[in-house]
Amino acid sequence: MIAQSILNRLVKPLHLTPKIINKFDVAGPRYTSYPTADRFVEAFTDEQYIQALEGRSVGGVALPLSLYVHIPFCESLCFYCACNKTITKRHERGAEYLQYLGKEIDLHVAHIGAGRAISQLHLGGGTPTFFGDDELSELMAMIRRNFSLVAGGEYSIEIDPRTVTEKRLAHLASLGFNRLSFGVQDFDLDVQKAVHRIQPIEQVFDLVDESRRLGFDSINVDLIYGLPKQTPHSFARTVSQVSKLIKPDRIALYAYAHLPERFKPQRHIQAADLPSAQEKVTMLSNAIAAFLDAGYVYIGMDHFALPKDDLAIAKRQGRLHRNFQGYSTQPECDLISLGVSAIGRVGATYSQNAKTLDEYYSFLDQDRFPVVRGLMLSHDDLVRRAVIMAIMCQGSLQYESIESSYLIDFKTYFSKELDALQSLSSDGLVEVEDNAIQVTNLGWFFVRGIAMVFDRYLQADKTRTKFSKII
Ligand code: SF4
Repeated sequence: MIAQSILNRLVKPLHLTPKIINKFDVAGPRYTSYPTADRFVEAFTDEQYIQALEGRSVGGVALPLSLYVHIPFCESLCFYCACNKTITKRHERGAEYLQYLGKEIDLHVAHIGAGRAISQLHLGGGTPTFFGDDELSELMAMIRRNFSLVAGGEYSIEIDPRTVTEKRLAHLASLGFNRLSFGVQDFDLDVQKAVHRIQPIEQVFDLVDESRRLGFDSINVDLIYGLPKQTPHSFARTVSQVSKLIKPDRIALYAYAHLPERFKPQRHIQAADLPSAQEKVTMLSNAIAAFLDAGYVYIGMDHFALPKDDLAIAKRQGRLHRNFQGYSTQPECDLISLGVSAIGRVGATYSQNAKTLDEYYSFLDQDRFPVVRGLMLSHDDLVRRAVIMAIMCQGSLQYESIESSYLIDFKTYFSKELDALQSLSSDGLVEVEDNAIQVTNLGWFFVRGIAMVFDRYLQADKTRTKFSKII
């Protein structure tokens, strides 16, 4: 059932009929990669990874590099958590981990050479700010000793407001970070108690204020709807506080998926405290309307940005890209990912590191890359990746660009997919022209449903339901 409020608000301007919502409210990937990570295989090992690293430079020319560092530690458990993390208050574990990150960097430098240019760096977790100031300094010093951070690059870090002071923000700025992402989720105290994450609005407000004073280029706030004790009314208050009082440059709005059988922390959440599916749809609908009213631009896939933000500018100019961190303004890069469970993309490969600290340390103790699974992309994977990313990022696709890059005849190669798009076209989500595909304004809200048509694995295996829902 779809909330009446959605129909009232959206049917007229967006033609979002109940039929369309029912049709597209299905499980689907977020396409931070194609093929998606559940297709990685254990037959891909550190040996293939080394080949990919050594083969990334053709005639001395290589794609620019992006660097991701995963810091898995958190001081306390958030009950909604579905991340790879280790809960501990023993901060000396951070020092040990840092040493191993150093080994992993050394191994990379041995294969790609020192001083490679990095245009994008992201520290994620877990809680990157679990590291103390000295450890963060040491990590950045290690990165700068071995890579070259280019001027004008995007250097971002995820911030748990409970672990950061205004003084620490100044330290992050001095280390060269220019983008911050604050995990807020919800400001309502009952919700915060129900998810075991207390962080008063005043604390976040002061930190964001100080971040602006320090000159960070872009500030993001993450919110989650569908959490226990949330109501459409309470969440609307949080949405208003964020979009009107804090007014970050970017907002990411995620749906909470309650999967306690898969994610142990979620067993602390009482199912009876969760909002109904209809209430979730109302929260989403109201939040979208509130962000648009507050002047934000819908980027796609749960992301909003102020019109002056780089992401909104890139969307207007058709320059959006997508990587494991979501939307990005940076051109296609090879992604080197460091740390436990981190996923990288080098050349035509994806690779993932060991998911436990013991295994991760054990590989590095043997001077081996801690890669335990991954994928070597086939020609078909590469063609489809290009198509899916064009749909997800530009919302349009010229057949000719794919034909000339991959030497195929688009209409012949994708005849089944073009047939399948006809029903989406009748529903007004996409326009299929003679030489191009164009996602409509309405289609942007369901863009992964359009991309899914080109996902060969998904089409071959339609019974899989492990992905979260579109709405
Ligand atoms: S949600 Fe983030 S901060 Fe909370 S336990 Fe999970 S990784 Fe740690």
